[in-house]
Amino acid sequence: VKIGVVGSGLVGSTFAYTAVLRRLAREIVLVDVNAEKAEGDAMDIRHAQAFARPVRVRSGSYDDLEGSDLVVLAAGAAQRPGESRLDLLRRNVEIFHQVVPAAARAAPEAILLVATNPVDVLTLAARRFSGFDARRVFGSGTLLDTARFRVRLGEVLQVDPRSIHAYIIGEHGDSELAVWSRATVAGIPVAEAARTGPPEARRLADPAFREALVEEVRRAAYEIIRRKGATYYAIAAALARVVEAVVHNEASVLALSVQAEGYRGAEGLCIGVPAVVDRSGVERVIVLPLDPAEQAGFQRSAEVLRQAAGEAGL
Ligand code: AMP
Repeated sequence: VKIGVVGSGLVGSTFAYTAVLRRLAREIVLVDVNAEKAEGDAMDIRHAQAFARPVRVRSGSYDDLEGSDLVVLAAGAAQRPGESRLDLLRRNVEIFHQVVPAAARAAPEAILLVATNPVDVLTLAARRFSGFDARRVFGSGTLLDTARFRVRLGEVLQVDPRSIHAYIIGEHGDSELAVWSRATVAGIPVAEAARTGPPEARRLADPAFREALVEEVRRAAYEIIRRKGATYYAIAAALARVVEAVVHNEASVLALSVQAEGYRGAEGLCIGVPAVVDRSGVERVIVLPLDPAEQAGFQRSAEVLRQAAGEAGL
């Protein structure tokens, strides 16, 4: 397996490091406008193979992406403190205008995995600028938000977050929403688990507590950026999970930014919904039955993205 990374910043390089530790590839190529940074990262990460598995890690040009099974697009301008994801839009669409066609030309068979924010609009941009089929172009979407949601629910319900099935869908950003009506733990709806679970779990019966929990998920990135300037560990782990599902042909269900076939309001957009991921990329979308309030929330979120895509000229 060969993985390309365009943009060896905090997210791209942390992903590459994670991919080495998780033994996901035989070869990793880092491309960045800042060639020194990519070279330094490649040198540093390469030495970690002695503690993981042999892997060729190097920096290079777009030509060196040739033969990549997957290219992670993490190039972009950094999100400034207090800056909304949508404020980044114009700056990063311009960058994608350069990098996507170059990556697509070098690796015409590759799957493109977009990590740069605002990820939903940039996934749409990547699809347009590459001309690739929708199943081969997708973004990290609400995968990280879903992870944060499960971690918080796991704390409240006192179970492993991996034993919780619950999704954050919509825009990776302020308009995202939790699908409470379909959230389960051990097959038990969360609303029911709130009654029968440990005392701490009773709080989930309170709509205000539930809303505050989702708000915490929405604000997580702002809070981390306020303290340390950027987020990268959890997003790198999320990207590695997606790559794992692809390279091991797992048919795993992951909340990604995709062409959300079957979701009302999402036509022509890329937006976060659960999708089945295997070697072919997004094999299909899982259409979650939403209650009326969730349906309305999803359509509002889609509208936010539609407007952003319009402002970006997409
Ligand atoms: P970060 O925001 O820390 O994840 O870093 C983003 C990375 O993208 C930085 O290393 C930038 O040098 C890189 N970058 C910005 N513009 C481009 C571009 N046009 N082509 C390749 N890399 C870029």
